[in-house]
Amino acid sequence: MKRTEPAVPVAAPAAAEAAAEQAQEDQPDEELADCVLCGEPTEYPASTRGATLCPVCAWQEAQRTACSG
Ligand SMILES: [Zn+2]
Repeated sequence: MKRTEPAVPVAAPAAAEAAAEQAQEDQPDEELADCVLCGEPTEYPASTRGATLCPVCAWQEAQRTACSG
């Protein structure tokens, strides 16, 4: 038995992520915590516990951790 399956379009993950980020930005302004390293606003709410890092510093920290490990 042979049947042809319709081609399933592959959703671009990047597009989905972008859409998710857009959705986050649509939220009413909530106070965001400042990055503990450079002072830039992070994407975390001010109520986040612990040290908050902006995407840049978080990435740099990840690199350092990866190198030292
Ligand atoms: Zn930072």
